[in-house]
Amino acid sequence: AAGSKSGVPDVRERTLIAVKPDGVQRRLVGQIIQRFEQRGFKLVGLKMLQVSDDLLSQHYCELRTKPFYPRLLEYMTSGPVVVMVWEGHKVVQASRTMVGHTNPLEAQAGTVRGDFSFHVSRNVVHASDSLEGAQREIQLWFQKKELLNWDCFDQILTCEV
Ligand code: UDP
Repeated sequence: AAGSKSGVPDVRERTLIAVKPDGVQRRLVGQIIQRFEQRGFKLVGLKMLQVSDDLLSQHYCELRTKPFYPRLLEYMTSGPVVVMVWEGHKVVQASRTMVGHTNPLEAQAGTVRGDFSFHVSRNVVHASDSLEGAQREIQLWFQKKELLNWDCFDQILTCEV
């Protein structure tokens, strides 16, 4: 954030992306990863897990009172998820655009949800919705040692954009 004030892109910004159980079931993991790689973001953490109710209730703590919440928990625990941390300039905002509207019927073609789903209860992917949200979710899903700092050969290009 300090970097963006001086006009230098903050290439260390991070966000949490998860392929939800329907995305894993439908073998969409590779295509979703490909979109983030292709856009130029850097993968710094990746794992597959069966999510616990406890983790999910923390992840979706703001939705606890919503009518769809029980079904959301059921959906999200119906099979394994693949969760990732992606890094790069404005990656939080860019990911939300790449993922598309929460309701796939309103998601643009070209977005993950717009291309691969048609119902809000099976919308394939999660992306953090703000910088604060991303920080909170990354801490919740990953241990520090599971996130790798590594140098891209093309980072110099990214910095000079
Ligand atoms: N959701 C749902 N029904 C709704 C709204 C949301 O099943 O009417 C689910 C959907 O899987 C969504 C998740 O709850 O992705 C979290 O909702 P949020 O509003 O945070 O949307 P997101 O940030 O995922 O776009």
